[in-house]
Amino acid sequence: MAKTLVSSEPATGAQIWSGEVGDAAAEVAAARSAWSEWAAHSVAYRIEALRRFANVVRAREPDFAELLARETGKPYWEARTEVAAVINKVEISISAFMERTPQRKLEAALGNKVAVRHKPHGVLAVLGPYNFPAHLPNGHIVPALIAGNAVVFKPSEKTPATGAFLVDCYREAGIPDGVVRLLIGGPEEGKALAGQSSIDGLLFTGSARAGMALHRQFAETPHKILALELGGNNPIVVWRPSDLEAAATIVVQSAYLSAGQRCTAARRLIVEDGREGDLIEAITDLIDRIIVDSPFADPQPFMGPLIDTASADHLQEQWLELMMKGGKPFRRLDRPFEERPYLTPALIDVTDVGERPDEELFGPVLQLIRVKDFDAAIDEANNTRFGLSASLIGGSPEMYDRFWANVRAGVINWNKPTNGAPSNAPFGGIGLSGNHRPSAFYAADYCAYPVTSSEADKARATIGEGLRDPNMIED
Ligand code: NAD
Repeated sequence: MAKTLVSSEPATGAQIWSGEVGDAAAEVAAARSAWSEWAAHSVAYRIEALRRFANVVRAREPDFAELLARETGKPYWEARTEVAAVINKVEISISAFMERTPQRKLEAALGNKVAVRHKPHGVLAVLGPYNFPAHLPNGHIVPALIAGNAVVFKPSEKTPATGAFLVDCYREAGIPDGVVRLLIGGPEEGKALAGQSSIDGLLFTGSARAGMALHRQFAETPHKILALELGGNNPIVVWRPSDLEAAATIVVQSAYLSAGQRCTAARRLIVEDGREGDLIEAITDLIDRIIVDSPFADPQPFMGPLIDTASADHLQEQWLELMMKGGKPFRRLDRPFEERPYLTPALIDVTDVGERPDEELFGPVLQLIRVKDFDAAIDEANNTRFGLSASLIGGSPEMYDRFWANVRAGVINWNKPTNGAPSNAPFGGIGLSGNHRPSAFYAADYCAYPVTSSEADKARATIGEGLRDPNMIED
């Protein structure tokens, strides 16, 4: 009997969607048979289809944002920014396609002509996370489609309704059914999809744990593209800022937006030992004003609940571990309603915790670490296996130069939050945060491969050296 997947609202527990768990082999076969026709269309044709998709999303924006807010628990205002990002992705991906994978003619020796063009891989699998369940998979799917690939998309098992809505928008725009297939399911279906011999690659956004599992699964298929966009344990260094209130605001935005469920959220606040007092006071003042409430509450909340009870339970366990190891809380991680996954923003001093776990605490927990000087701040920023985002707040231009040169991360900011990277720039991390296949503006790179062709309209050839004179050949 077919299995069913159910999706419930984190804020209320009410069921909002249910659907049948899919079959990876059948979806890949459907995409495979549709692919060549899609690839044979002109780029202009595919771009036109994607522009229609942007218009469909624009027209359905209120319903899309409402569903996103209900299914993820994120505030309605934030869900609307995610839908806007889905729409904007189309024009950005068109520019990226033109800029990153253009056709080029090169002049070669002796007036020969060389052309560089790009071809799609074929059928690409896309696995999405729950925290930006529309924007992030769409950030793989749109460039993949423009380049001429077909896609099998498996949304997170925690946000299948949003995934289904997104696919419905591609369909309404006239993109053929076979070109974007929806696979409903969880990690098992993700593994099954990754293991299909007839996919040509997999574009993944999610946890480092799942990314490593996929990397192992792809060990014997090095010819297939595997793009991994993974998590972080991101530092924010605050160094003698001229505007304390602004610094505190940036820290709060970095750590607690989306209830801390952002890959780029600040997890570690690094400050100069002995000078942290005023900053902590400004941060805790702001924390105490943060509204944690349901997505449609009035006034609108700063953050909603976590995605589900299991995630909130897990974060509470990680918090308790920090406490048991000697962490000193400034604000505790509280659970206002036991039965729902709401958590309050927490701040804890872990300077004296020996062997701090280098894990991504995926929720509203910020760990404070005091250091003696700026060199120690840089060392501490790099004290992680991850390398996604890092910010310096305050400091001087010279200090920022040192920070930029020595910190290992794919996003390095000055006087700006760690999160909210611009979509028209490349986005990715190093270390455990990815496999050097940055997404966003550079997604075009992993959606196509270059083909170099030396071309002439007529065959003309001579061999200059190494041949006997024809007149000298004896019969
Ligand atoms: P997750 O890794 O649990 O799941 C992501 C997707 O992979 C889901 O569709 C899931 O069903 C599937 N999956 C899980 N395990 C799998 C396996 N072993 N094989 C195949 N598929 C598997 O991630 P999540 O909890 O949904 O999302 C949060 C994580 O995503 C965080 O770690 C966050 O930092 C990361 N993230 C990274 C970025 C980025 O761009 N770097 C952006 C957003 C989120």
